Amino acid sequence: MPRTADTLPSLRELLTTAVEAVGGTERPGQVTMAEAVHKSIRTGEHLAVQAGTGTGKSLAYLVPAVRHAIETGRTVVVSTATIALQRQLVDRDLPRLAKALKASIGREPTFAILKGRRNYLCLHRLDTGAPEEPDDGGLFDPFAVSALGRHVKRLFEWSSETETGDRDELVPGVTDQAWRQVSVSAKECLGKDKCPFGTDCFAELARAEAGRADLVVTNHALLAIDALQGYQVLPEHDVVIIDEAHELVDRVTSVATAELTAGMVSAAVKRCGRQIAEDIVDRLEEASEGIKEIFDDLPQGRLDDLPRALQGVLTVTRDAAHSCITALGPDRSSQDVESTTARRQAIALLEEIHDTSVRVLEAFDADTGQRRDVVWLSSDMIGGNPRPPALRVAPLGVAGLLRERLFGECTTILTSATLTLGGSFDALARQWGLPVEQRPAQKAEGTATDIAPPADNDAPHWSGIDVGSPFTHEKSGILYVARHLPPPGRDGLQPAFFDELEGLVNAAGGRTLGLFSSMRAARQAADELRERLDFPILCQGEDSTSLLVSKFAEDEATCLFGTLSLWQGVDVPGSSLQLVVVDRIPFPRPDDPLASARQRAVEARGGNGFLTVAATHAALLLAQGAGRLLRSNDDKGVVAILDSRLATARYGGFLRASLPPFWTTYDQSVVRGALARLNS
Ligand code: SF4
Repeated sequence: MPRTADTLPSLRELLTTAVEAVGGTERPGQVTMAEAVHKSIRTGEHLAVQAGTGTGKSLAYLVPAVRHAIETGRTVVVSTATIALQRQLVDRDLPRLAKALKASIGREPTFAILKGRRNYLCLHRLDTGAPEEPDDGGLFDPFAVSALGRHVKRLFEWSSETETGDRDELVPGVTDQAWRQVSVSAKECLGKDKCPFGTDCFAELARAEAGRADLVVTNHALLAIDALQGYQVLPEHDVVIIDEAHELVDRVTSVATAELTAGMVSAAVKRCGRQIAEDIVDRLEEASEGIKEIFDDLPQGRLDDLPRALQGVLTVTRDAAHSCITALGPDRSSQDVESTTARRQAIALLEEIHDTSVRVLEAFDADTGQRRDVVWLSSDMIGGNPRPPALRVAPLGVAGLLRERLFGECTTILTSATLTLGGSFDALARQWGLPVEQRPAQKAEGTATDIAPPADNDAPHWSGIDVGSPFTHEKSGILYVARHLPPPGRDGLQPAFFDELEGLVNAAGGRTLGLFSSMRAARQAADELRERLDFPILCQGEDSTSLLVSKFAEDEATCLFGTLSLWQGVDVPGSSLQLVVVDRIPFPRPDDPLASARQRAVEARGGNGFLTVAATHAALLLAQGAGRLLRSNDDKGVVAILDSRLATARYGGFLRASLPPFWTTYDQSVVRGALARLNS
């Protein structure tokens, strides 16, 4: 029987109990945030909260979430972007919180973790073996084949030890290709009742546990599937809390992106096997050959028109896949498990091929300015070799989807250390589909930024609050912009860049995290500095990223250079990290199909495509990268941006306003002196 609001302790009392139990001290930002989350849950008004590192934001949302779950008997969903945060919540914060609040609320709150079916080991697939998989080119590589064999062997050994079957608990991990041998998609799953392993199934056990829990921790991808694709995979809920919300749009876009390759179609041919008449399968085989031929001929990149030959091949593919699906027919209760499995596996792939062909064909129906999907052809690299080309289709934006299916369905609280760009929530709010006012956000007393909910009654109501950070950025950190350097060119890093980097790393005595806009630049800088300096320089890709980060954290003199995952994933408090260097403003590549199409769409509506898309993307990443510097109260150091455009270009002001409020200098000797003093 749920307790009522009157019989439960107040939010403040619960927060104080929780903070004391974890040995912390009450922080003003944390209290402000907890109260704002509590208010949002009670009023149903969506909330965006920017909370800097060190605010204690997880307790600030978990405590009101638990209180709501206990009071109403309803589940609250908490979604994260990274496994690291998921682990922190499930292994550390939630167990401590549950114990701490037990006496106050009369029972221990329960929690569970839930991911997509693909994340769990499938006992049935383990028993019967994997069907024919699309060949993505990796199997031409003998090293990939032997690695696959080793990984699959490890997976079989692990299957007898694991209690959860959760892929993320397998350390070190295995390749996606190996994991596919032991997992199934939701469409391939036989269903609990039909499957001989249904009662022991890891995915089913996780779902059942989630259905009983007060709080369910999940990831943005599953949240997107639940909200956007119409499969109800999460337990019924009326409140969702999205941590690492700066990642939401990218994760939702990934879920809504589809691809088509010749390998997928030939794998579907094999999956159909002898289940249907040969002449029907032959048509699919011809489609596969047609796709291979035309994908090899077409230039890679964004497609603004549908070439006639591609249209022909996609039409044939669509019709052939449809004929195979019809011939396979519906599930029959008289079918044995083996036949049902073979049918499901074939249908799952055929539907994907059919639906993607239809989507690409329809993507070009509207005039360019009205199109909702972006289509492009590209080849990923694997082990330095290009994979066969894939045709991809992604939504131009996900604002409409989020507005209707997420904000329209439940109270949503979005939080991250980086939600305001250029001092306002507007850029991200627009991407989420929330209405924005046509005025800059007001800075309220102290650090809080309050935006009154807009008057539009049809639009989702929301408010934004910046609860600041417990760190004094202007005293603990310096932003150095190397204004004297030439703007970065297209032909790699220049000698003046290396001289600048060498001087900074030398002054800092190592302790440098180098954030580069490409792996090529990271490697080039690592090679050059190894020649010039004696400090150990690690470079991403030389070992697993987590191991490299551990080595970097353990030894103060060590430097770590790398690219995208380091921009967001490094949490190294203390003196091992006193200098963050950024080689160039991380704009999307000009040939990025999605970013360039989004930019063009904004321009077609009369907006500034560069500012809305490219500068926003860069601002978010820069803020995340700069956020690596101060991770605890005692941390001090320098963020050095070696791209003079941050000081000289028109958009530089917007980018600088998106960074934490460090003390800023353009003076090389000042920054070297400060680093040397920290190093002494
Ligand atoms: S129920 Fe589905 S996921 Fe579970 S073991 Fe059976 S086929 Fe695999």
